[in-house]
Amino acid sequence: MNVPYVLIVDDDPALLQALPQALSLRLQNGVTVDAVDSATEALKLIQVHDYDAIVSDIKMPGMDGLALLHKIQEIQPETPTLLITGHGEHDLAVQALRGGAYDFIQKPIERDYFIAALQRAIQTRQLRRQVSEQQRALEAHARGLEAEVLQRTRELVAANAAKDEFLSMASHELKTPLSSIKAMTQLLRRQFERASSPYVSNLMNMERSIKRMEILVNDLLNTSIIETGMFALNKERYDLVALCRHLYDEYLMSTHHSISLDVPDESLEVEIDVNRISQVILNLLSNAQKYSPSGTPINVSLKRVEGEGVISVRDQGVGIPQSKLPYIFDRFFRVPEVEVQTGSSIGLGLGLYIARMIVERHDGRIEVDSVQGNGSTFTVTLPLLAETRLTATEVHGHENNNPPLMPPGS
Ligand code: ADP
Repeated sequence: MNVPYVLIVDDDPALLQALPQALSLRLQNGVTVDAVDSATEALKLIQVHDYDAIVSDIKMPGMDGLALLHKIQEIQPETPTLLITGHGEHDLAVQALRGGAYDFIQKPIERDYFIAALQRAIQTRQLRRQVSEQQRALEAHARGLEAEVLQRTRELVAANAAKDEFLSMASHELKTPLSSIKAMTQLLRRQFERASSPYVSNLMNMERSIKRMEILVNDLLNTSIIETGMFALNKERYDLVALCRHLYDEYLMSTHHSISLDVPDESLEVEIDVNRISQVILNLLSNAQKYSPSGTPINVSLKRVEGEGVISVRDQGVGIPQSKLPYIFDRFFRVPEVEVQTGSSIGLGLGLYIARMIVERHDGRIEVDSVQGNGSTFTVTLPLLAETRLTATEVHGHENNNPPLMPPGS
């Protein structure tokens, strides 16, 4: 702690000499004392010095101790002020305390009491000063941190934008040469087939690899379309029963799993982008196959639940741990250490994210129910068209001027 700095104000010359002497003798770590005989002089000093404590007589000619206390409260409210009152002047003592005095000291001054009271006052002032210094330091630190967070956020936003731009460019640039390679490979394979060449199976392997690459590129492309706000729907009125049947037939041809379909007899009309909702269901089917052992059953069902059509894709595969379910539709999320059961393990963790975006843009929901080791059920819920809306759609026609979204592996 610094050497305390004290101001003593008293019109009694004897006290004005005795008190500083007593302080110098009793405060072992030293003390600096200014002593003045009037409140007016004291005020001049208070304007320029930051005292640790002020001791003032209450009764002084001109400005008295209470008026001085009032001024000190305005100029240096943090400085504790002790007022000296006459013996038995209780009213004045009460006024002093109410006016904000730190303590009062009665005449005749009892030295031990005076020194102890002053030491407490000094300590209080020095602690207050430390607290406000620490507070200032903390505030400065907080401002520094805030600036750093702002700067980092700006950098992250810029990095994120650069990443989106890169993904968008890379996926667009990869798409065209990949399509050419695919077309050329298919052509070569047909030629080799006609010539009964032994290399046909190599070319078929190549085609499978190209298909897997296409899935990745399309996932990236779709994500970049979503991220850059270019995500648009070509909605039309469609029967979900017909859609499920069609997708079931299409999928049946490409899978080794036993797949079953349950649909209602009635038609369930919706207004959807057929390509994109097909993409969602095919993606769920492809995951059901990927994450279930070959040969295990997969079921697709469609039912009406009040005003909504609910499509469920159920598998009996590895399932998803409970703790991972909240993240399953997040971008780039893949359940760690889950082994793909059937087919290629290729994937970026984008399929379900894209599916969620598509379904939500149809005012629908996509949900999952799964038990680890015991299969998963993904459900897509879409609002059914009310009869009145059907008619309105027919009258106004369909919006059909948006770029198509790439279905996986198209
Ligand atoms: P990926 O391309 O990795 O399959 P998805 O977004 O389609 O990406 O799926 C995210 C993750 O969710 C997968 O990596 C897998 O861990 C888990 N998952 C998705 N569908 C199933 C399912 N039917 N059974 C078990 N886990 C699944």
